[in-house]
Amino acid sequence: MKFATKAIHIGQQPDELTGAVTVPLYQTSTYAQEEIGKHKGWEYARTQNPTRSRWEECLAALEGGLAAYAFGSGSAAVDSIMRILSAGDHVIMAEDMYGGTYRLATTVLTRFGLTFSFVDMRDPANVEAAIQPNTKMIYTETPTNPMMTITDLRTMAAIADKIGALLVVDNTFASPYFQRPLELGAHVVVHSATKYLGGHSDLVHGIVATNSADVAERLKFIQNAVGAVPGPLECWLCLRSAKTLHVRMERHASNAMQIAIALEKDPRVKAVHYPGLPSHPQHKLAASQMNGFGGMISIELGGIAQAKSFTKAIKVFTLAESLGGVESLVCHPVSMTHGSIPVEQRERLGITEGLVRLSVGIEDVEDLMADIDQALHN
Ligand SMILES: *Cc1c(COP(=O)(O)O)cnc(C)c1O
Repeated sequence: MKFATKAIHIGQQPDELTGAVTVPLYQTSTYAQEEIGKHKGWEYARTQNPTRSRWEECLAALEGGLAAYAFGSGSAAVDSIMRILSAGDHVIMAEDMYGGTYRLATTVLTRFGLTFSFVDMRDPANVEAAIQPNTKMIYTETPTNPMMTITDLRTMAAIADKIGALLVVDNTFASPYFQRPLELGAHVVVHSATKYLGGHSDLVHGIVATNSADVAERLKFIQNAVGAVPGPLECWLCLRSAKTLHVRMERHASNAMQIAIALEKDPRVKAVHYPGLPSHPQHKLAASQMNGFGGMISIELGGIAQAKSFTKAIKVFTLAESLGGVESLVCHPVSMTHGSIPVEQRERLGITEGLVRLSVGIEDVEDLMADIDQALHN
């Protein structure tokens, strides 16, 4: 079965009781048991919820995994996958990460005895050099937020396999429609479903998919034991959104590509970071592991004054954190999403005060281009 058919049908067979074509929202905390020790397989809603199970089944199929587990947010998903490790374990993490993941690692997880090495994953040699005898996980994000750098997933998977570590990939920016890390050798995929999977800026949700039976078992245990689970409504909304993921992603990407091409020629813009541009230093690598380049673009406007006037003048784009919704958003990473990254590291990565990040929505591209043009005039 091809992606679009899976997105609409896996986990979404009509309801057995009524024939409802949409998966019902099981808004319940518990399930009646017939007699002691006899139930229908559903006991308590932290452990299992039918709406959640259907969504987990759907997402596992979209990522090409064995199983998936849903969480209350992307951050809860990241935290839960980290909890399959133990004190004393070492993680090699990309240095150009989502700010919240960096903060979770450095301020919370280190207090529980995990150690981290942050490396520039554009060069696999940096990862090889960071390996320790207790390295249990390589954790990356590609394309990265906000610099849009690419990690070579096939090479990372080979390194992870060689040392018996797990390769975990945050696939939030690409979505499974454009990139399926498990098919390239990764063991675990993490999503902030708040972004493209939810796709309508109306929920906070996270999900982890894996092709390892061992990881699936440990993660399922943690999902229940730690309990960072989502409510059934969020799962129901994600299932609703899965049905249009392929259509939305196509439009996000075609709009972004047209905008990136136009901005690259515009002298008012100092740099355009978009992996779909042939001028992106890792364009070939991106093309070898993605089937499309997504809807995220970062642009360098030169300084804080330009970033301020641009974000003030822009009208169709809304100044807000987050990304991946049908509506276009603009964000200023230094002051909004990446405040927890140390200044020196931020500057080395190119996350400057003049950098703004565009989450290109699925509006008419001509309106988006006209809006950007008038905002650059200011
Ligand atoms: C937003 C985001 C997260 C965190 O997810 P939440 O749903 O906000 O908790 C993790 N990784 C990436 C790449 C993100 O964009």
